[in-house]
Amino acid sequence: MSIKIDTSLCIGCGKCVEACPGNLLTLTGEKNKPGTKAQILIKEDCWGCCSCLKECPKHAISFFLGADMGGRGSVTHYAKERGLVIWTITKTDGSEEKIVIDPKNANKY
Ligand code: SF4
Ligand code: SF4
Repeated sequence: MSIKIDTSLCIGCGKCVEACPGNLLTLTGEKNKPGTKAQILIKEDCWGCCSCLKECPKHAISFFLGADMGGRGSVTHYAKERGLVIWTITKTDGSEEKIVIDPKNANKY
């Protein structure tokens, strides 16, 4: 498992670094300074908790899905819009699937 960081979106805020329970993320420079980006130190150690995805204010982090969840190279991406949680799965052929969750109703069963 591993994540992918879109450095063109990353603003170097460090929120993902603070969120990772495995201390797998670091910044390339000083926090919030121009040019500072997040990076993952040891990709193989990521166990896919997705904490970093949820904390990123720029939605710059995607998570690679296993073969059983969309195939190698497919990624999922987290966003929150108008109170709804939206997981977008982008497959290797470019197609997308969205899973929309209303947190108010998430645990009602
Ligand atoms: S998915 Fe979890 S373990 Fe992996 S880098 Fe992000 S916060 Fe760390
Ligand atoms: S939380 Fe997002 S924007 Fe902030 S450093 Fe991490 S990847 Fe970059």
